[in-house]
Amino acid sequence: MSNLRFKSVEEASGRKAVKVALPDERADRYYAKQVFNRAKMFEYLPRETYEAFVKAIDERLPLSRQLADSVAEGMKRWALDNGARHYTHWFHPLTGSTAEKHDAFIEHDGKGGVIERFSGKLLVQQEPDASSFPSGGIRNTFEARGYSAWDISSPAFIVDNTLCIPTVFISYTGESLDYKTPLLRALNSVDRAATRVVNFFNPEVRHVSCYLGWEQEYFLVDEALYAARPDLVMTGRTLMGHESAKNQQLEDHYFGSIPSRVEAFMLDLEIEAHKLGIPAKTRHNEVAPNQFELAPIYEECNLANDHNLLLMSVMEEVARRHNFRVLLHEKPFAGINGSGKHNNWSLGTDTGVILFGPGKTPGDNLRFVTFVANVMAAVHRHNGLLKASIINATNAHRLGANEAPPAIISMFLGSQLSGVLDRIAASDSTEALNMGGKEHRNIDVAQIPEILVDNTDRNRTSPFAFTGNRFEYRAVGSSANNASAMIALNAAVADQLNMFADAVESRVAAGEDKNSAILDEVRRLIVTSKDIHFDGNGYSGEWKEEAARRGLDVETSAPLMYDAYTRPESVAMFERTGVLSFKEIEARNEVKWEMYSKKLQIESRVLGDLAVNHIIPAAVRYQSLLLDNVYKIRQLFKGEKADRISAQDMSNIEEIADNISAIKSGVEKMVKERHKANRMTDERSKAIAYHDAVAPLMEDIRARIDSLELMVDNEIWPLPKYRELLFIR
Ligand code: ADP
Ligand code: MG
Repeated sequence: MSNLRFKSVEEASGRKAVKVALPDERADRYYAKQVFNRAKMFEYLPRETYEAFVKAIDERLPLSRQLADSVAEGMKRWALDNGARHYTHWFHPLTGSTAEKHDAFIEHDGKGGVIERFSGKLLVQQEPDASSFPSGGIRNTFEARGYSAWDISSPAFIVDNTLCIPTVFISYTGESLDYKTPLLRALNSVDRAATRVVNFFNPEVRHVSCYLGWEQEYFLVDEALYAARPDLVMTGRTLMGHESAKNQQLEDHYFGSIPSRVEAFMLDLEIEAHKLGIPAKTRHNEVAPNQFELAPIYEECNLANDHNLLLMSVMEEVARRHNFRVLLHEKPFAGINGSGKHNNWSLGTDTGVILFGPGKTPGDNLRFVTFVANVMAAVHRHNGLLKASIINATNAHRLGANEAPPAIISMFLGSQLSGVLDRIAASDSTEALNMGGKEHRNIDVAQIPEILVDNTDRNRTSPFAFTGNRFEYRAVGSSANNASAMIALNAAVADQLNMFADAVESRVAAGEDKNSAILDEVRRLIVTSKDIHFDGNGYSGEWKEEAARRGLDVETSAPLMYDAYTRPESVAMFERTGVLSFKEIEARNEVKWEMYSKKLQIESRVLGDLAVNHIIPAAVRYQSLLLDNVYKIRQLFKGEKADRISAQDMSNIEEIADNISAIKSGVEKMVKERHKANRMTDERSKAIAYHDAVAPLMEDIRARIDSLELMVDNEIWPLPKYRELLFIR
């Protein structure tokens, strides 16, 4: 056992950087080489097909069968020219990962041979055997029918000689079984609602897009050490392990120089990302040892999310080439920072204006505060729902821990923007503003300083922060599908913008001046949603009390947080925006509870196994060494002297015995609680039982194991330790 450990550490520490084969072209030449983008479409599609297809994408139009056939033909030729032999519909089931089923392009030619064929029918829709994907009861398993349908807004791409076609995944009766379907609906609804509001300022705007720039944090671990940690292999995190003497106290890792093995990995990853059209741009060390971040240039939200999901799977593959394993888990190691996936989110018009950025004219600034105030109101009203959208069994370890956003959603605005909003709220509404002439006293909105754009006044403790021209939703977990957060946020904002537009329209219809109605509605929103605004330290204990006083959602149990989805105001919001039906919401919650219980069940089993079969035997072996020593001491020395010399060993023997028996009884109790939970048929109750009764026992067992780690002979300890996992170069 110990041999394995030491061999692994030596193997791991002796490894050199893997040489990366640099492409012999410039980055702009191989960029998006594996993507059927517009340049490729132009080359491979007949002119009329190209034009009609691009129009369908841009104007969000349905596709005729004939057009689909023509696109399929060109797409197939491009794919075959680029080495693809198979194709797959690529979709995002509720497991949180991606799914694909590969088919070859070949069909019988009727003469005993085959021809390569790919029709529009196969491109547009397929029926994967979907019985094994979670559906929360929407799809009867015996019926097992789910359909994948082409999402033309995200281009097809080639990975591992397979043409991947981004698709939605829905049931026979049309309910979503995936993340993409409601995401597209939410983006559509925020497009319509934001266009209504932005048309108050500029009637030429026809569409508003949502932009997402994600920042992906991750850990790297040497594969030899990873393989020697069954908990990492099976659960993605360490279920035990004492803090290493040095971790992140010195803050010497953050933005420090990147180790050469890691640099080689990053370079390789970036090349692969660029070939897939993923605009990876920045990379750096993160705060914790062996923690890193990759961020692309932001893109349209649906595409950005496809790119994130694709990148996560490419990362795993590239990491293996460099003898690493990538850990996307939110909290792989206790006691040091966890990983998030900050979602930089904004809305922008088809005329090229980012709506969360202040402008140069009073009119621009009124538009700016209008959108900010509506976001505030949406986040305020739906703060519990937004939290529910990012919580799961893995992110629960990160949120509320001391270095991550707390399990309370609040909004950071910064001193400048707060000042602007305060002035608007305080001013007298009768001093209505005419945005037209200079002579009018349009002070409130005119005085927004331009430096806001370069605002570096950033509060790292806030889960949702204004950062100059966008909001940064930081509570999203590193392993998550961003869609969950983006669905809730965009739907909530769309609903709020619609209410705002309704209010302004009816005031204008009643004869009020438009700008004065807008400003007055903005003022009202600022006042009624002020409780969501918090610029202070989100890690502090006082904030938790203050947030509760303000009526924000302070629930800390993940299974209970999901209840926010089925609250009447959430259901009404999702139904009004057409993003999710009540049936879908209920089904998705079932899946969330089920996933929560399953994750904890696996962790608990792995912990039990490691405790009983790895840790206790090692502790017993060490204990018997000590006993042996005491026995020998007593042979050589007598009386008080023997007592004195063996005292330390005796106390260690007892402490080990205490820990062993606590671990044993802890595991027994945990197994009992697990069985009790497993017998529950209601998914919500089961998840609550796992949270309330199983998880705390896991913590107790871990604490015992970690104290044994400090006592037992290093050579006997069966698992790589934190200092080895985290500092191998
Ligand atoms: P930081 O770590 O300081 O927050 P990064 O440069 O790591 O900043 O990440 C910023 C991310 O925000 C990038 O992905 C960037 O493309 C994205 N971003 C910048 N402007 C916008 C915007 N208007 N909307 C959405 N994302 C944006
Ligand atoms: Mg950031």
